[in-house]
Amino acid sequence: MLKIQTVFVDRDGTLGGNGHFIHPRDFELFPSSLKALQLLKENGVKIFALTNQHNISKGLATESDFHKEFESYGFDAAYICPHEPEDGCECHKPQPGMLQKAAAEYELDLTHCAVIGDVGSTDMLAAAAVGAKRILVETGWGKQSLEKYRHKWYEQASPDFVGSITLNRETRINCFTEKIVQYMKVRAIPQGVALKSCRYNQCGDPFHPQIKLPRIDSVSSL
Ligand SMILES: [Zn+2]
Repeated sequence: MLKIQTVFVDRDGTLGGNGHFIHPRDFELFPSSLKALQLLKENGVKIFALTNQHNISKGLATESDFHKEFESYGFDAAYICPHEPEDGCECHKPQPGMLQKAAAEYELDLTHCAVIGDVGSTDMLAAAAVGAKRILVETGWGKQSLEKYRHKWYEQASPDFVGSITLNRETRINCFTEKIVQYMKVRAIPQGVALKSCRYNQCGDPFHPQIKLPRIDSVSSL
């Protein structure tokens, strides 16, 4: 069984906002995000922010603005790429530079870490490049990543877990990250086993989020 050491969490579209740039002073979290982060910490998992913020290079915000924001949410560390995608830096996701830097600074085994994000072609590809577990959320760009943009990433970096951050209709309290935490805590992630949603394998696992994955034959890009 695999004990998760650190979870890297994307910001826009994953923790809140809408998947586009929002200045830290205006950023709004999803209702369950803070609770989810807290649960991870309570379970002995470190939480590191992992975000592309190319508007820093345009002068629209500073790295310090973002560091303060992540600190206020309880993050243990934050990795922020301030560059434009065209700059060719090693940190802009899907490049795995920020993950590798974190691994060096905190002596992490990245195969014992997970990346949570909403964009397959950045978050999931970066995670796959270093062998980290991959959790795609359906908020932000998540659904479009699974459907319209699936061809850009899915084959190389299919997620180990797909979750929705929206509240469970019956209980009104569950969110995907709680389920992930429960999963990590109670079951841990079996090594070498790709977790699929219960829709895929009909496993009946109560911790699997009820999600609607597109049927393969309904995805036009395939
Ligand atoms: Zn960069």
